[in-house]
Amino acid sequence: MTLIVDCPTCKTKVTWQPENEFRPFCSKRCQLIDLGEWADESNKISQQVTPEVEMTEEMLDALEGEFLQHNKFFVEPE
Ligand SMILES: [Zn+2]
Repeated sequence: MTLIVDCPTCKTKVTWQPENEFRPFCSKRCQLIDLGEWADESNKISQQVTPEVEMTEEMLDALEGEFLQHNKFFVEPE
């Protein structure tokens, strides 16, 4: 049985077989395009859910200090 799918990017008929490493895409190009679009979408979503809070230098310093306290193994010995 041969399964034929439409390339999600350009709608070319693609035969679903192990030899086609880019399935369900017809080519690496289409695969990359789709991944790029997916990344764009997730960027938009993460921008929407980001609370409108400006990170001040103080807040960043506090976060960094907290991080270092809880992750001493990251601090290089002198
Ligand atoms: Zn394609």
